[in-house]
Amino acid sequence: MVRAENVRKRFGPLEVLKGVDLEVRRGEVVCLIGPSGSGKSTFLRCINHLETLDGGRIWVGGQVVGYQRRGSKLHELGDREICRQRTEIGMVFQHFNLFPHMTVLQNLIEAPLRALKEPKAEATERALALLEQVGLGDKASAYPRHLSGGQQQRVAIARALCMRPKLMLFDEPTSALDPELVGDVLTVMRDLAASGMTMIVVTHEMGFARDIADRVVFFEAGQAVEVGPAKQVITEPRHARTKAFLAAVR
Ligand code: ATP
Ligand code: MG
Repeated sequence: MVRAENVRKRFGPLEVLKGVDLEVRRGEVVCLIGPSGSGKSTFLRCINHLETLDGGRIWVGGQVVGYQRRGSKLHELGDREICRQRTEIGMVFQHFNLFPHMTVLQNLIEAPLRALKEPKAEATERALALLEQVGLGDKASAYPRHLSGGQQQRVAIARALCMRPKLMLFDEPTSALDPELVGDVLTVMRDLAASGMTMIVVTHEMGFARDIADRVVFFEAGQAVEVGPAKQVITEPRHARTKAFLAAVR
């Protein structure tokens, strides 16, 4: 589903991704862990072309992300094509980024109406079903400011799912939440994983990574230092740097 090959990214003099390789199969859940500044968010943003690459290539569903081949060279896609690619990739951020002036339902149907040109009745029906799925069936007409952080994050997940993505990216979806609100969001993500969604999740929730992820990637200084089955990486890391990181966050 996702293949990243030798992905490189720099911001000015700072080399943030130093040749990252990763393959994620359909239905797989992969967690990215690692210290602050190691490049996890940047890597996630490269997957849906919120960042351009300085080297390497990423494929999602067999298509090169953000670029097309013309002759022997790769050229960046036009805005419309990039938007079309992004409709297939859902992204959920630490801060929920809901539209504050829209109700929950309006937040959910906005993109399907505009980007997918879905009929309103169909988009609404699907949105209501997804709200039910994330445990917020009674909040369709509420405004985001009247919801808790955990509820807002579940709306953000439902909103991403409204676009029928084939891949979901999560960047620390529970980091901004009060501890008692984390569980409900993780439950929604756990159900999503069980339903077969392909997911890449940047997280500090080691319990979630250990129990839900198929594989865990430990990032440090712009490199995927250790990649392996979730339980093995979390409970018996092989690399000294992974060990040191996990000992510090426990
Ligand atoms: P955290 O756990 O704190 O979220 P991270 O692993 O997600 O960290 P990134 O956000 O990917 O790390 O950042 C990696 C490095 O790139 C950091 O040093 C950061 O300051 C730098 N960086 C990220 N985005 C930009 C940007 N747009 N311009 C300049 N530097 C950037
Ligand atoms: Mg980050």
